[in-house]
Order: sequence, then structure tokens, then C-alpha cells
Amino acid sequence: MRDANPVFIPGPTNIPPQVLRLMSQPTVDHRSAEFAQQMPELMNKLRRVLKTEAAKVFIFPSTGTGGWEAAIANTLSRGDRVLACRHGVFSDKWIRLCQNFGLDVDVIECDWRGPADPSQIEARLAADTQSKIKAVLVTHNETATGVRSDLPAIRHSINQAGHDALLMVDGVSSIASMEFEMDSWGIDIAVTGSQKGFMLPAGLAIIAMSERAIAATYSADLPKFFFDLRQMDEAVAAGGYPYTPATQLLSALSFSCDLLLNEGIDRVAQRHFHIAEGVRLAVAAWGLEICAGDSHFASDTVTAIMVPPGFDSNKLTQRAYERYGVSFGVGLGQMAGKAFRIGHLGQLTEVQALSGLATIEMAMLDLGYSIKAGSGVAAAQNWYRTSCVGTSLSNINICEQEAVPA
Ligand code: PLP
Repeated sequence: MRDANPVFIPGPTNIPPQVLRLMSQPTVDHRSAEFAQQMPELMNKLRRVLKTEAAKVFIFPSTGTGGWEAAIANTLSRGDRVLACRHGVFSDKWIRLCQNFGLDVDVIECDWRGPADPSQIEARLAADTQSKIKAVLVTHNETATGVRSDLPAIRHSINQAGHDALLMVDGVSSIASMEFEMDSWGIDIAVTGSQKGFMLPAGLAIIAMSERAIAATYSADLPKFFFDLRQMDEAVAAGGYPYTPATQLLSALSFSCDLLLNEGIDRVAQRHFHIAEGVRLAVAAWGLEICAGDSHFASDTVTAIMVPPGFDSNKLTQRAYERYGVSFGVGLGQMAGKAFRIGHLGQLTEVQALSGLATIEMAMLDLGYSIKAGSGVAAAQNWYRTSCVGTSLSNINICEQEAVPA
């Protein structure tokens, strides 16, 4: 019966039943007119999700990591310098990927409980008088720590420094769930994957490129073949694909875009805030701390929670899984053993969130955490009852009730 339980890992997320059904469709010939017609429509939907009119969108059969690689390999040349903040496992991995490509990475070491630091970015760019830095890499939402970085502030710092580096953003765990405005935030490259906000299985990397980023592809000399954007662009423009596309996933992506756009992309972000706030209030009621040092930067898709000294967060997630059949995110990197994560993104309702909070409460009580039974659930219930903004996808169990007085 454990497969009846939702997962509370920050991706892959729970998959809506209609999406699951849609994926069991017969094979579509990827050289047919039917397939060719599908792609431009899908790109338009993705542009609306990303809030961009100008960007070109590419979809690779891959994952977010492939998206990082495509962004780097298509716009940069061996020996180029890039600037990146390291403040969690995913920002660290993107840095290591760049180093493997022979790039000169200028790393800003940041506190793992905080966001990418716009003031340090501005200082490094201002000092780069010869414009050696070609790109600034930012992980919008550090899934390892549950910390969101302030992209408009980072764009502002690049402008203040008068620098023309490309702004490349990892939006793997933010896009399609948290506020994300590619054009108005001046983002040159946005990378995401199918298995988080889009509520699909892993298997697609989605990359959107501004005109400036596209221009950079003409001089970039890093090696690529599978991730060659120009090859992909030409093939899709001709109604095809450079190799075998993941046709079922592409159809499912189109459908999940419909779900998101029907709900309204701003409303999707509000729903994630609403669910996340309930989780944060639960954590406070337990007397625990979230990893994000400043709650202003707390992520609305994943909450990392520090366990009290003397406790091992891995034992907690193990207990929840083994005894109650529910998965939570383990602590990663510097947070291993010190924090566990509650993923609350994609298809998730208040009711499901409450079940996750109740489960982890039981596991904490089982292991002797000094928390009051029911306290976190009660705090979240109170929030959900009094500030209902509608917590589900357009055609799944809509909550349109008026908020009741506290
Ligand atoms: N970036 C972030 C912020 C992530 O959370 C992840 C995965 O969880 C990745 C990149 C890597 O993506 P993938 O596992 O799809 O390759």
C-alpha cells in the first residue's frame, strides 16, 4: 500500500493521474506531420510558463544536469572564465561540471544557509575590467538547503557593475512552481527538468536562451554533439528531431503546461507559497529551525529542517520510510545527517501536505525528539484554514473557498 502515499522528496514529484494515463499512449512516429506540429505549440506554452516572449526554447531527452551541460557547452569556449556562488550541493555540481569542461571558474564561497550573494557578484564583476568573465551562474533554488536566491537583485548587481556577462540560471527546482520571470529579470539562459514543477518523470531537460545567449553559440568552441543546440534548432525547425525524441514525455509536458497555464502561473506560485508557509509554521511549532538562515530566502518548493544536536536526520527519514512508507529528502552535502527535507512542489494539496507533516511528526516522536504531538500539524491546519488561496491544480480538487476568520 505504500505506493498510495505521496512522496515528499523535492523531485521527482508526485505525478497527476491524468499525466500518468496520457503517457501510456501508443507510439507516435517522430517523423510524422503530427509530431512536427506538436513542437512549436509546446515551445509557446513553455515560453508562457517561463514568462518570456523572446527566448528560444530547446528540449533534450536528458535531465537538469544535461541542461547545465547544454548551457555551458553551447555558449562558452575552453579557458573562458565564469563566476559562480557555491552555497549547496547543486551549485557545487554545476561548478564542477564547468571545471571538467576546462573553464576557469571564479567561485564565490557563500554560507550554505544563505543565497547567492549579489554584492560579491557585483564586486567581482566590477574588478573584471577586461571582461574576462563570460557568464554568471546562479542556482535559483538550492534544493539541498531550501534557499532561494534573489534573481532580480543579481541582475541588478550585474547591471551596476556595467558587465555584459551572460546570466545563466539553474531553475530546476523553481521553474513552474515559484515566481520566475525570464524576460523581466534579464535572464539569458534558464535551465530546468521535467521531474519537478512540471510533475512528470525525469527525462527531459528544458533550456531557454535569450537572443544574447543564442548569439554566443556562434563563437562557442566547447565540444558537444548530443547537446548541440544549433543542430537541435535546425532539426526542430524542419519538423523533426536530431535523434529519437521522448515522444510520450513531450506530449505529457504539453499537457502539464496546460495544467499550469489553466491554473495561472502566478497562482501556481501562490499555491506553492501557501503550502510552504504551512510547512514553515509547522517547523516553528516543533521548535526546530529551517536551514535558510533568513526566512525571506526560504524556498517555496522544499524546506530543509535542521535536526536538534545529537539526532541524525538520516535515521529520521529512514524511520519515516520504513515504518510509514513515506519518503522525505535526506540531508545532502554539508547538511548530511544534520537536516532533512520536505519537498512540497508539483501536484500537492493542503491535505497531502498535512499528511506529510503528520507522518514526520510520528517519526520524530518515535525517535525521541522533544516535540509536542500534533503541534506542527495544528500550526499548518490553522494557516491552511485561515488563508486559503486555492491549493490544487485547475482540474484536480479545486479549493476555492473563502478564508475563514482565525
Ligand atoms: N539543479 C538543481 C537545483 C536540482 O535540484 C537538481 C536535481 O535535483 C539538479 C540541478 C540536477 O538535475 P537532474 O537530477 O535532473 O539532473
